[in-house]
Amino acid sequence: MNSRKLQPRIGIDLGGTKIEIVVLKSDGSILARQRENTPRDNYDGILKTISGLLEKVSTELSLPIDLPIGICTPGTVSRVSGMIMNSNSTCLNGRPLPNDLEALIMRPVKIANDADCFTLSEAWDGAAKESKSVFGLILGTGVGGGIVINQQLVQGADSIAGEWGHIPLCLDAYQGSKESFTNDRKCFCGRKNCIETWLSGPALTRTYHNTFKNPDQTQEDGNAKLIAELALAGQQAALDCIDEYCHLLALALSNIINVLDPDTFVFGGGISNIDMLYERLPHYLPRYIFSDQLETKFVKAKYGDSSGVRGAAWLWPGNS
Ligand SMILES: [Zn+2]
Repeated sequence: MNSRKLQPRIGIDLGGTKIEIVVLKSDGSILARQRENTPRDNYDGILKTISGLLEKVSTELSLPIDLPIGICTPGTVSRVSGMIMNSNSTCLNGRPLPNDLEALIMRPVKIANDADCFTLSEAWDGAAKESKSVFGLILGTGVGGGIVINQQLVQGADSIAGEWGHIPLCLDAYQGSKESFTNDRKCFCGRKNCIETWLSGPALTRTYHNTFKNPDQTQEDGNAKLIAELALAGQQAALDCIDEYCHLLALALSNIINVLDPDTFVFGGGISNIDMLYERLPHYLPRYIFSDQLETKFVKAKYGDSSGVRGAAWLWPGNS
């Protein structure tokens, strides 16, 4: 028996407002969990807060002082420079966070982004734990994704594996009504009709308002959650809008199936709570994939908002 495999794992979720630490037993149960506010625009403060949380749980649980830590954060670490890129906590960008932290806490650090940690968590002991190949999708304010094969994260040569949200959606191939598609949608990345512009939560709301909502309706239809509630209550406009969303999602996922053909797609983010998704995808996908069968599984995440910090802990699988 490799004793490393039985050691606790430490994960940290470094978010824009909170820093959370979790200590997991090797069976995935939680030994400790604590959080602090993220010091705003204060890089050294962030390093100190992480170090403080680590010291606190290590003392409380008498953990070995050489246990490595995994960190989940928006953005990525450049494989060329070792610097953080594309983080919405802008004080981290251009900083060598892994190196600085390793120097401060004197133990190894691995960092991955939210979608990667989400996928790793669900593949390790979550909703996709029986699957060899898993594609994790976050459908929320933005659209993110991650790939895990045999419980190992695949990050890619450019650290963008799974970033399917900025592939252009091939609307020409869409086989439903094209009423919604009169205007191209500009993406913040500078291109147009990226998948994110059609499949994020705000994109769903936009489609509803532009195409499906009755003009005489006075009710505030603020967000994707409310549209889902209206659909559940039987409102035809909301049902039609979500049905079209599922159809577009099928079109977008067909490219992933044609390339990677994962055993399981696991869904997170607010839109993953719309149950129609899991029923409609197998209905629409066969017309877009290059296969006469569809054995792919579509499941909702088990750990929800905790997947990031749990996935961070699993960045160290314990067999190295
Ligand atoms: Zn884009």
